[in-house]
Amino acid sequence: MIYLDNAATTWPKPECVYQAIDHCLRTMGANPGRGGHSMARAASLMLYEAREALAELFRIEDANQIVFTHNATDAISMAVFGLLCPGDTLVTTAMEHNAVARAVRYVEAKGVHVVIVPCKRDGQLDMNAMRAAVMQRPKAVIMSHASNVTGTIMPIAEIGKLTKQIGAIFIVDAAQTAGVEAIDVAAMGIDLLAFSGHKGLLGPQGTGGLYVSEAQAVTPLRVGGTGSLSESDKQPEFMPDRLESGTPNTPGIAGLKAGVRFILDTGRENIQAKEMALTQLLLDGLKGIPTLTVHGNTDIAGRTAVVSFTLNGKDSGQIAHALDRDYEIACRSGLHCAPWAHQAIGTLKTGTVRLSPGYFNTEEEIGQVIAAVQKIAAQGG
Ligand code: PMP
Repeated sequence: MIYLDNAATTWPKPECVYQAIDHCLRTMGANPGRGGHSMARAASLMLYEAREALAELFRIEDANQIVFTHNATDAISMAVFGLLCPGDTLVTTAMEHNAVARAVRYVEAKGVHVVIVPCKRDGQLDMNAMRAAVMQRPKAVIMSHASNVTGTIMPIAEIGKLTKQIGAIFIVDAAQTAGVEAIDVAAMGIDLLAFSGHKGLLGPQGTGGLYVSEAQAVTPLRVGGTGSLSESDKQPEFMPDRLESGTPNTPGIAGLKAGVRFILDTGRENIQAKEMALTQLLLDGLKGIPTLTVHGNTDIAGRTAVVSFTLNGKDSGQIAHALDRDYEIACRSGLHCAPWAHQAIGTLKTGTVRLSPGYFNTEEEIGQVIAAVQKIAAQGG
């Protein structure tokens, strides 16, 4: 099988990730922070090292400001529900995934004033509209670092600067960029960073996290046992315990730690360069098919390894089905949980076929994918 659905979740994982999960279950399968025995201590240490590896990758000063979550969705809900109150203004964009869109609509129904900044047909943000929205002095701005539909990279550092000028909280959904794009929370003005552990960070599903610069501003979404201050029935104020309760996904986090260490050892830039070279190859090959339209901006420097296309106005599901059935190519079709983005780029009716190369794909595989799409197009698509 040729796996080109890395924007949903990366596969395969580096060998060290499989090994780390196995090793964790066998040798530190205890409850971290809850026992004085050696296995519990080993699990606690592993969790801390995972936080440190993530802090190194995102240039976070204090690793304890990172909390582990189930996924990026969980982290985004934690941020939005923990920060926004009725009467607050929240700015977001028209390219958001439902992880943001649905959280935003939820708080809107509770009385939060929501401003949605429009995006252009190529997926790029209307920066003038964003400047005008920030002038409304919102409590927070929430947006993705890159679109999961078009791969468009958003001007995060520029918007981070705007939010700092008016004292707004800047929440970034890095589900599509963590582990591949450069992220420096201080330099980019990011106050809260939500990320998936199972995509670019190469960890297993069921992992993700949230970096919070000012933890006291965030009301915990869930409270309970932390292993610390057990004599008290009050949630600890200190991080990460303030926002992290219950037994963690220790084996998953062990896998995530191995994934992040793999990125740090391989060099994030090298991973990004390989993914972008494969993406360029894919874009060049698809460009030669006259009935095919690639969506999103044409400038390769402004996008991630995500290529969304439509063929002759045909339903994207049929094309993805043919790729799977006849060529064993795994991709994703439809709306990719992002109806707002499809509305913005004009593909709400057909959806798009999304091909997302990852670090472990090869040039040969990309060649096979291009040949398969060419054949499907020649058959009338
Ligand atoms: N935001 C974006 C931009 C995404 O692409 C995704 C995953 N498709 C999410 C949020 C949700 O991520 P997770 O599956 O880790 O909850």
